[in-house]
Amino acid sequence: MAAQPPYDVLLKGGHVIDPKNNINKVMDVAVTGGKVAQVATNIASSDAKKTIDVTGLYVTPGLIDIHVHLYMRTDPKTLARPDGSVQPDAFSFRTGVTTMVDAGTSGWRTFPDFRERIISHARTRVLALLNIVGSGMGTGKEDDPAEMDAEAAASAAKANPDIIVGFKSAHYNGPGWASVENAVKAGNLTGLPVMVDFGYITQERNIRTLLLDKLRAGDIYTHCYSGHREELLEDGQVNPAMVAGRKRGIIFDLGHGAGSFYWYVAVPAFQQGFYPDSISTDLHSGSMNTGMKDMTNTMSKILDLGSSLDQVIRMSTWNPAKEIKRPELGNLDAGAEADIAVLRVDRGRFGFVDSAGAKNYGNQLIVCELTMRKGQVAWDLNGRASQDWKSFPYQKKAWTH
Ligand SMILES: [Zn+2]
Repeated sequence: MAAQPPYDVLLKGGHVIDPKNNINKVMDVAVTGGKVAQVATNIASSDAKKTIDVTGLYVTPGLIDIHVHLYMRTDPKTLARPDGSVQPDAFSFRTGVTTMVDAGTSGWRTFPDFRERIISHARTRVLALLNIVGSGMGTGKEDDPAEMDAEAAASAAKANPDIIVGFKSAHYNGPGWASVENAVKAGNLTGLPVMVDFGYITQERNIRTLLLDKLRAGDIYTHCYSGHREELLEDGQVNPAMVAGRKRGIIFDLGHGAGSFYWYVAVPAFQQGFYPDSISTDLHSGSMNTGMKDMTNTMSKILDLGSSLDQVIRMSTWNPAKEIKRPELGNLDAGAEADIAVLRVDRGRFGFVDSAGAKNYGNQLIVCELTMRKGQVAWDLNGRASQDWKSFPYQKKAWTH
């Protein structure tokens, strides 16, 4: 009797891009027991129970989207504006995303409900940046400093270290710096990063003070190409505060969303060499049905702006993994959980729409062909892992009472 092959699945013939391990060439990826077993050239098909031919495609770590909205509430009466949250598995795998980070939709008071009803039932790995506002986003409390309890947020994070990866300050339009300062305080109490959606600026509450005085190295400025907070100056120059912030270790995240990515900001920023550290969608029902669409469309925009595919994959895998301090994610190390994306890059003439509805043309479009989560196929656009129906061992069975 022949010995059992050592591997469960072999992804054969693809071009592997694994920025953490400096891999950017044709290699095979073997998976067993839900983990990456080996990445090497020419692993024999006879060594695997199942081989999936991915010739002509790119094989990358599962994508990590660190700015999405997933906390659908049960009581819409508590909301000041429509809840645009989406169901994680409905939008993750079809674009190669295996890890989603909810960016502050829930706060320290509402997180237990989010965890119980949504996170624990998702096949997608869902992590969370906890809103410094107790009730979370869109509840009409985002300008109320009394709702911003750093100690309560820190204890929620300490009670849920498997899920909570940091804190979120968002949309603030109240007095002073209460939102940012309390989020940073919670960050200091836990050693976790803070993501800031800078909300509304004033003379005193400006981006220079935020990036040079208020935030710490490793904190994340999302919506970096929004233009709403003087990221780009009137003369078309990237605000020197952004460049100085980057020098002291502030992270710049894309956070496309429905109102935070404009060609008139992104194109000059790219020309001046100011690139995002991480690509994220700010996925919600508003953004996905307008210019943003999804993770691979957003990545395509950055690819067409001039970043290399290797850089775009780095911005969607290893960089976000480091930003949320989860270095076990976003790579294809032997022993890593087998979260894998298989991508195709189409050539042609494609239109990419920004948050104002304006179009820019590009000639490369990234499409997700196949996604694996914990070694299982979770999305397969062209049935690459499937068997031809003519030879398929159907179990024919009438459905009778
Ligand atoms: Zn958002």
